[in-house]
Amino acid sequence: MSQTLPSAAEACLADLAAHLPPAALLTGADVPARNLQDASFLPPVRPLALVRPDSAKGVAEAMRICAGHRIPVVPQGGLTGLAGGARPIEGAVALSLERFSGIEEIDPDSATVTVRAGTPLEAIQRAADDAGFFVALDLGARGSCQIGGNLATNAGGNRVIRYGMAREMVLGLEYVLPTARSSPASTRC
Ligand SMILES: Cc1cc2nc3c(=O)[nH]c(=O)nc-3n(C[C@H](O)[C@H](O)[C@H](O)COP(=O)(O)OP(=O)(O)OC[C@H]3O[C@@H](n4cnc5c(N)ncnc54)[C@H](O)[C@@H]3O)c2cc1C
Repeated sequence: MSQTLPSAAEACLADLAAHLPPAALLTGADVPARNLQDASFLPPVRPLALVRPDSAKGVAEAMRICAGHRIPVVPQGGLTGLAGGARPIEGAVALSLERFSGIEEIDPDSATVTVRAGTPLEAIQRAADDAGFFVALDLGARGSCQIGGNLATNAGGNRVIRYGMAREMVLGLEYVLPTARSSPASTRC
């Protein structure tokens, strides 16, 4: 932990370290180079820390701590965004959803899939395909982009004219607000 950090940043890092498992918190040189930028070609920025929760509870805990210390948080999905939205800003915590990944349920009766925010789009397409369904959302970054990033950006993609934008495919969301308040529902698309 650097001694040159402002006291709020020091306190936030200490709080994160005290409440998150070691695998969910990376700081300093341990933050992978890929998390310093997205696909926008803007110069890299090293975040105060990289938080990598593997559950909605972990996301809420990280948000609660950062909000309490008034430290900004930059969510990161697959880092394929071209507008710089997932690139860290100075003094912010980067919140990667990469460990919060996986298909929770495919319901054939309602033709819905319930997935975690960090699930790559291509994994959802494949799982749906294996179950005899079709996910209309598709973009060139399918192997890297995550459903959370697709919804945050309201991605269009290759089939947007026929099937519409990403958010039009969503029936429900489980979310964590910047205040750390969370919802009970699940993401279905
Ligand atoms: C080859 C290529 C092809 C592309 N084709 C298209 C296309 O056809 N149509 C299109 O619309 N875009 C396209 N894009 C842009 C990009 O892939 C999309 O914007 C995609 O939806 C971003 O998803 P991501 O997971 O990579 O998000 P990131 O780049 O990681 O993040 C994008 C934004 O979403 C926020 N975010 C990410 N995850 C979450 C989350 N779980 N909760 C809250 N906020 C979150 C980030 O803070 C950031 O502001 C393309 C990009 C590439 C490289």
